Amino acid sequence: MAETMELSPALLAIIACPACHAKFAVDYDANELVCTNQSCGLAYPVRANIPVLLIDQARSTL
Ligand SMILES: [Zn+2]
Repeated sequence: MAETMELSPALLAIIACPACHAKFAVDYDANELVCTNQSCGLAYPVRANIPVLLIDQARSTL
């Protein structure tokens, strides 16, 4: 069973989507940070509780 990722609120407060600079919603089931900009829709993986904020690592949820 996968462990639930732990992301600090302080971290979440400062990070933003590198593609559009919108804030993220946390998807704990998918271990992803999902951009809240509905015209962007990129989801970034979280590995070992560290968000991988690279556009080429993201997937589109649109
Ligand atoms: Zn975005």
